[in-house]
Amino acid sequence: MPDPEGTIDSNAGSRRVVIVGSGFAGFTCARRLCRTLAAAGDDTEVVLVTPTDYMLYTPLLPDVAGGLIDPRFVAVSLTDALPRVRLVVATAESIDPIRKTITVTSEYHGPRELSWDRLVLTPGSVTKLFDVPGLADHGRGLKTVAEALYLREQLLRQLELADHEDDPGVRQARRTVVVVGASYAGTELVAQLRALADAYAARRAFAPSEIRFVLLDMADRVMPEVGEKLSDQVLAVLRDRGIDIRLGTSLKELTGDHVVLTDGTTVPTYTVAWVTGVTGAPVLGTLDLPMERGRLIVDAKLRVPGHPDVFAGGDAAAVPDLTKPGEITPPTAQHATRQGKTLARNVAASLGIGVAKAYKHRDMGLVVDLGPRFAVANPLGLRLSGLPAKAVTRAYHTYAVPRGINRWAITLTYLTNAVTSRPLTLLGLVGPEESSFGASEGIRHHART
Ligand SMILES: Cc1cc2nc3c(=O)[nH]c(=O)nc-3n(C[C@H](O)[C@H](O)[C@H](O)COP(=O)(O)OP(=O)(O)OC[C@H]3O[C@@H](n4cnc5c(N)ncnc54)[C@H](O)[C@@H]3O)c2cc1C
Repeated sequence: MPDPEGTIDSNAGSRRVVIVGSGFAGFTCARRLCRTLAAAGDDTEVVLVTPTDYMLYTPLLPDVAGGLIDPRFVAVSLTDALPRVRLVVATAESIDPIRKTITVTSEYHGPRELSWDRLVLTPGSVTKLFDVPGLADHGRGLKTVAEALYLREQLLRQLELADHEDDPGVRQARRTVVVVGASYAGTELVAQLRALADAYAARRAFAPSEIRFVLLDMADRVMPEVGEKLSDQVLAVLRDRGIDIRLGTSLKELTGDHVVLTDGTTVPTYTVAWVTGVTGAPVLGTLDLPMERGRLIVDAKLRVPGHPDVFAGGDAAAVPDLTKPGEITPPTAQHATRQGKTLARNVAASLGIGVAKAYKHRDMGLVVDLGPRFAVANPLGLRLSGLPAKAVTRAYHTYAVPRGINRWAITLTYLTNAVTSRPLTLLGLVGPEESSFGASEGIRHHART
């Protein structure tokens, strides 16, 4: 890392809290902390460092990839939602917990230094890549708007090309999609892409079965998170929709026009999504602090041991799960949002406002939208599937998006979708470069190709 070109410190004299990352944890922390400081009449500056000027509601990314929801609707404007926060649209490249500085860069300026009195680390996670040859070049994740849009556009582009392809082998490859990872995110993705492909086939009047979907996972069941009974139902519904589900199987190799499965089968395809799990954001690696499973170790009050002014939460932190002694909380939005509130409270307490508390939250279950007329959900231990689960899932997401205008747009989209088919326009806005793991998620990975 070159020496910083200058500082972006301001407000000399007042204390400063720097929050890294504007996801569920960082956004919630910033919002809550501003309210607490304002109520106490405290002028501590709150700075949010984030590469995007929005908070991304990731649970609806499969709907974006499936062309159901416009990406702007799942992006909550930070300027609108957090007017009291000083926004630094840049990436934290390195952090010095001793000198109490972070260095940020953006594509518009070189390294600049920012000092802090309290630091909150909520940079989330990135797709976990394995050393599979060709993965970094030919696979795409589902963590960012660029990736979701690319998958949608890639599917439509390949379907349009297949329509006038004379070689039957190439035509079938263009009409084949491989999704790796059958936990909830990968399963929601395959269901939404299937729905998009079905809409295309209906419009072009050919059989949807001509478009092939393959869903792979090394596990022995889909979505183990929702329990055996719902998992079996999901398997049956997806197979009924013509999705070829192969459990105990992953990818051995990817090339530009085919993949090789771990059982040796070759599947010709141009579209591969890799949704197999996550690991802590790369910036955590610059800290030289103890990690567990790729996440920063913190105590139950979300403090980094040995650094009383540094806090962390969300996917980036290994937070002890006080409801399950010995375990850490899973990387979900449900925990990240609540940890954001605890972070705000504990940072304020460290500034002399209020009292710190330990993070404790009992998991409330999952809601999983699986495309047309089907969903599963297990809120508070209840097992729901089909239309009741669909209603709960859509109501939950609409409620959970943290800004009224986004909620309104999403609700209108769902209502519109109930009476019209999903749009099939291909604007070609995101190319293979912007959607790569490196450009889109900031993963510095040197996989074999
Ligand atoms: C497709 C999909 C579906 C999901 N569905 C659900 C669901 O239904 N329910 C559920 O509970 N969870 C769901 N999750 C998981 C959920 O999205 C995560 O657990 C949650 O986003 C974690 O919140 P976070 O604030 O820790 O991180 P994130 O929301 O990932 O936010 C991290 C932020 O940090 C920023 N950042 C990263 N590096 C830097 C850096 N160096 N400098 C500055 N900023 C940085 C990022 O740009 C981002 O703004 C889903 C995830 C995906 C991908």
